[in-house]
Amino acid sequence: MNLQINMDLFEKLTILSAAAKYDVACTSSGVDRKGNRAGMGNSIAPGICHSFSADGRCISLLKILLTNECIFNCAYCLNNCTSDVRRTSFTPEEICTLTMEFYRRNYIEGLFLSSGIMVSPNYTMDLIYQTVQKLRQVYHFNGYIHVKSIPGADPILLEQTGFFADRMSINLELPTALSLQQLAPCKSRSTILKPMRQIQNRIADNKQELIAYRDTPRFVPAGQSTQMIIGATPENDFQIMSVAENLYQKFQLKRVFYSAFVNVNGNSMLPALPGGPPLLREHRLYQADWLLRYYHFHVSELLSEDRPDFNIFLDPKCDWALRHLEYFPVEINKASYQTLLRVPGIGYKSAERIVKSRKRNKLTFGDLKKIGVVLKRALYFITCSGKMMYNTKLEENYICENLMRDKSQIPRDIREGGYQQLSFFDKDMRSDFHLTDAQLLPAEQRVVI
Ligand code: SF4
Repeated sequence: MNLQINMDLFEKLTILSAAAKYDVACTSSGVDRKGNRAGMGNSIAPGICHSFSADGRCISLLKILLTNECIFNCAYCLNNCTSDVRRTSFTPEEICTLTMEFYRRNYIEGLFLSSGIMVSPNYTMDLIYQTVQKLRQVYHFNGYIHVKSIPGADPILLEQTGFFADRMSINLELPTALSLQQLAPCKSRSTILKPMRQIQNRIADNKQELIAYRDTPRFVPAGQSTQMIIGATPENDFQIMSVAENLYQKFQLKRVFYSAFVNVNGNSMLPALPGGPPLLREHRLYQADWLLRYYHFHVSELLSEDRPDFNIFLDPKCDWALRHLEYFPVEINKASYQTLLRVPGIGYKSAERIVKSRKRNKLTFGDLKKIGVVLKRALYFITCSGKMMYNTKLEENYICENLMRDKSQIPRDIREGGYQQLSFFDKDMRSDFHLTDAQLLPAEQRVVI
């Protein structure tokens, strides 16, 4: 079956999906909703969106902008009001059609809808609201929906939209108020943090309402997320991770995303980055973010004002362990779950399995391998029944040298010079659109799902 799509809509899709590719805050984890006879689609925990490129970008949502028109002037953005780019907008009806058609073909599992700001924040937010309302109530789409809230939009519009979306996000954009003022003068911390607080409070109220009245509609059930651009401004990793920690603690965000800065418009206020976007730095920030969310680390344990940036050559957990050899070696058959979490090469799932399995038998290194422990990293830091795996030294330089030989310390995609995002123009999608090779866009203009 071929998708009947007129050229105008196709051109819009080309422009508005390419324009959305720098927004990385688009995972779907955290909502569990079974399909029903009345609607199309489902959304199953831990989410529909498990495919990530090496740098954390999500690849299975229809990821588009409502419009790439914008009245704001954020210096880092290709869609800002001074950019000379082709502009277009979808109607709510067009987005519904695309979402349903792609969903039916199994190309996507949900919608990620962001937008430039057309006419005014309220005008744009209202169009976003109309789109999700229509998708849910007219098209009965039951799949995952993540929408951006527009800074400066009326709280009532936000609230109405939140009852149709699974996740909402509002981008912090830059780590400090000063950087925001310099590079995004139309935005302010207050127009970003106020809606964030509103969504947080409404989610909390909704939880209470759901306990009291089972039929209450759910408000943003997958929680909210945000994104910070990394490397456009001079903040160090310590500042960035401190902001992220605060957002997790004070706003109960589900995720903070870090987007390596890409100088898309050659703005002279921004760094030129001849070596390309800081992907390895972005990767280390994501690793540290996991340590905060799943491994009970605090930013102050990983970084400090005297040591404000992550070690590029080692992941943050290995780096921490090397600076705290006094805690090692850890005896696998006795250490607490919390202690196991601190061992390089032991993930939180492996730690759970260790605690469960050792109730039956004393664990050996062979058992640890089966459990999923990465022994090439863990072996320097653990004993099994009092013995180390090899006759190794518990000495910083020695372990550091060995760990740095492990190629997985730097992901292959980054070692080999960048990542590839999926394109509508790959695989079977080409045949649905009757595309020839000549019609394929150059890689940098390809449409991102
Ligand atoms: S608000 Fe700023 S970041 Fe968003 S589309 Fe407009 S110029 Fe770009």
